[in-house]
Amino acid sequence: FLEIKSIEKYYGTGENRTKVLKGITTGVEKGKICVLLGPSGSGKSTLLNIIGGIEKADGGSISIDGSKIEDMNEKQLSLYRRNHLGYVFQFYNLIPNLTVKENIEVGAFLSKNPLDTDELLHTLGLWEHKDKVPSQLSGGQQQRTSIGRAIVKNPDILLCDEPTGALDYKTSKDILKLIETINQKYGNTVIIVTHNDAIKLMADKVIKLRDGNIRKEYENTEKVNAEELDW
Ligand code: ATP
Ligand code: MG
Repeated sequence: FLEIKSIEKYYGTGENRTKVLKGITTGVEKGKICVLLGPSGSGKSTLLNIIGGIEKADGGSISIDGSKIEDMNEKQLSLYRRNHLGYVFQFYNLIPNLTVKENIEVGAFLSKNPLDTDELLHTLGLWEHKDKVPSQLSGGQQQRTSIGRAIVKNPDILLCDEPTGALDYKTSKDILKLIETINQKYGNTVIIVTHNDAIKLMADKVIKLRDGNIRKEYENTEKVNAEELDW
């Protein structure tokens, strides 16, 4: 479903030019949860941003359901992002003067087949908070809202870059469980960067990056069979 072939990425120019992705080849099946692990600077966010069409690779190819994103022009790329991708960040980037419900509706804007917002608010556990603005919410509730904004257009792929990085362990676990619930309910493929080990129980695939290379990959057929993962 998602095919990543020989992806290369450089940053900087001249003497400072460094290769941060050195030929990444892997794939993710439709509807699966895939975790990206690796030390700081190993290239996790860069890879996620290339999959998300936010950054361009300098070599290699990414195809989703057979369409290659490197062949898309600006307009096709923006349609791709709008219709097929949802993005969740560490910092929630909510619009401060809009309510929870309105922030989520922003994500549905111009989308072809948005989910029912009221049903989603229930799934997210936000029904009783729907008329609050972000400053009236806890961190976990704000992140739930930003997940709602990403998922309301029912994207094929949900990209999450350290979605629990700003939360305590327990709240993080709840957020990861919510992402799993959404994956099961709507069938979105999830690619997630997280250091929270609760993800072990949810991951179908784990990709470990180091220095811009894949160091190890685990296909996790029995989800829990991740004991040897040496996090
Ligand atoms: P972290 O866990 O700290 O978020 P990461 O695995 O997400 O790390 P990336 O953000 O992908 O790492 O960065 C990979 C490498 O690319 C790092 O060495 C980083 O310094 C470099 N890098 C990332 N973005 C840029 C940029 N815009 N310009 C120059 N170098 C960059
Ligand atoms: Mg990162």
